[in-house]
Amino acid sequence: MHFDTLALRATHQTDPATGAVVSPLHLSTTFARNEANELASDYVYSRPNNPTREALEQALAKLEGGAVGMAFSSGQAATMTLFQALRPGDHVLLSTDAYYGTPALLEQVFHPWGLTYSRVDMRDLDAVQQSIHENTRVIWCETPSNPLLQILDLLSISRLAHEAGAICVCDNTWATPVLQRPLELNCDVVMHSTTKYLAGHSDVLGGALIFKHNDEFAQRVRNLQSLSGAVQAPFDAWLISRGIKTLGIRVRAQMATAQAVAEFLDGHPAVEQVHYPGLSTHPDKALIHQQMNGPSAMLSVQIKGGAAEALAFIGKLKLFIRATSLGGVESLIEHRASVEGPNTATPQNLLRMSIGLEHAEDLIGDLAQALDTLSNR
Ligand SMILES: *Cc1c(COP(=O)(O)O)cnc(C)c1O
Repeated sequence: MHFDTLALRATHQTDPATGAVVSPLHLSTTFARNEANELASDYVYSRPNNPTREALEQALAKLEGGAVGMAFSSGQAATMTLFQALRPGDHVLLSTDAYYGTPALLEQVFHPWGLTYSRVDMRDLDAVQQSIHENTRVIWCETPSNPLLQILDLLSISRLAHEAGAICVCDNTWATPVLQRPLELNCDVVMHSTTKYLAGHSDVLGGALIFKHNDEFAQRVRNLQSLSGAVQAPFDAWLISRGIKTLGIRVRAQMATAQAVAEFLDGHPAVEQVHYPGLSTHPDKALIHQQMNGPSAMLSVQIKGGAAEALAFIGKLKLFIRATSLGGVESLIEHRASVEGPNTATPQNLLRMSIGLEHAEDLIGDLAQALDTLSNR
């Protein structure tokens, strides 16, 4: 079955009670027992389990080809719960270019709690091999990476993880299962900020973990999620299920526009460098073809100059919205270094763009007029 059909089938269940074509939204926190104290179903209380959340979790598992999916209140709650399932003394290996919240959790929450971690440029497989210790339990990859759109070789990294008795987790937020299915590349767990493309409309927070096998580790994570209440609220789960129905068509349309935008920016006299996997100059071209169905709808651009020039440029934009986050239907642009603070490794002249569903010509026109004011300064 093609992905688009799968996405619709996975999020559809005709309600047996009413025939409603759209799945009902179950807000109830609790479920009644009959005279004999028996429940009508497996549902007892909505922290451990809720029908609307469960419907999303089953859909997520199907989209990524996993045995079990879990829906959390945010991407960070998903990441946090996975790390909580490790033990003090365990080691996590994280790629250097990654969403800043992942190392922030490791540094601020889990380091004091006894988890160790280190970071390595995972494009260098020898360096990955050398950074694996006896106590390494998790290799955490993000590809394409935030904000430099670097591509990591998931097949090779998961092999190195397994040889060392560790698991390989892939943050698949940027690629989405439309473009990349890490479990098919031998990763053990996929993480998503469903806030982004899966929900797709910048109006709901969510996170997900999808496990290839419903093994002891998956069950440990499930137990932690249920005990701690790091769960997705039913209405939010319902919105994300709705978003998934149009995921394929959104991602492909946004990606086509991202390609056009990247080609326009590449070679513009006011531009220093464009980071986009769809450009023929991207260093990881072969890998992109090997493991992805397309270069994604995210790109970063380095403007000639520094933070002042980058900020002056985005100040002139009329269609792009200056805001953090990504994956929605509206195009967003952000000066990442401002958000990441003084210790950031992100270049000061870098702007990250999430391409939405506006017409490519309008977006390119907006960029062109803003770049012109920059070169005329
Ligand atoms: C946004 C994001 C996260 C964090 O997700 P939240 O839903 O904001 O908690 C993690 N990884 C990536 C790649 C992201 O873009």
